[in-house]
Amino acid sequence: MEDLVRKEIVSYVAGNPGNRLPDSDSPYLDDALIGFSSASDSIFADYKQIIGPFHLLPCELLPEAATVVSWVLPISLAVRESNRQQKKWPSREWSLTRTHGEAVNAGLRRHLVVWLEGMGHKAVAPQYSPLWQEFGDTPVGIASSWSERHAAYAAGLGTFSLSDGFITERGIAHRCGSVITTLRLIPTVRTATDHRHNCLYHRNGSCGACIGRCPVGALSKKGHDKYRCREYVYQTIIQKLSDEYGVPQLGCGLCQTRVPCEAMIPAG
Ligand code: SF4
Ligand code: SF4
Repeated sequence: MEDLVRKEIVSYVAGNPGNRLPDSDSPYLDDALIGFSSASDSIFADYKQIIGPFHLLPCELLPEAATVVSWVLPISLAVRESNRQQKKWPSREWSLTRTHGEAVNAGLRRHLVVWLEGMGHKAVAPQYSPLWQEFGDTPVGIASSWSERHAAYAAGLGTFSLSDGFITERGIAHRCGSVITTLRLIPTVRTATDHRHNCLYHRNGSCGACIGRCPVGALSKKGHDKYRCREYVYQTIIQKLSDEYGVPQLGCGLCQTRVPCEAMIPAG
């Protein structure tokens, strides 16, 4: 059954006609990395301490929840290459991916729910649950009642970075998502030695390349200033380029490209 779920996710993304850069053979998003975690994994209770009591357990979003299905959709080489050249603003390709690639990711969440329900299981995409909320001012800064990256960590797909990103075997540049279901699947084993292992700065104090890539000084050895980053990504960039690029969400991703963790777990 695990393979069937994996196949459904990969074929949805690969076969989605919206997953295509204009005037290019390249997709926005490559084949998914997929992992499963048990809905009763104690790590979700830990998140109530680590993130905040507002972060929901799988069973709070779906009573009788058995499994959290998580995926990471790596951003394609063509898109990453375009953003590597940028120093202040995201490339057009990166911004199209933020809007249209994320639409593919959103479609995948909804498709997987319908597909699982069609097989007689219950399913919910936390991102679209009426219980989903964002909180602007918490001890960990801006946070929400369900973190896709923390779900991906629980499913063994990677670890966190200095820049608050999530570094997988295909790197830090990706979109990610999850669906909770009553279908019982075998959990993926978490193999990372700690929750920040894949980031060189956390592993051995080196690198820090993402710090120099941020045009607004939102990154430092102390970590990620979520407020400064958010103001730049959701206000300054949108005001400057939304009309020119023709998309409402543009992202930034400068700290996720031209860095050692862009598309892999950097070697020490
Ligand atoms: S660029 Fe270096 S320090 Fe920054 S997140 Fe990647 S590995 Fe960590
Ligand atoms: S997304 Fe952009 S603004 Fe935010 S930390 Fe990365 S480089 Fe800086």
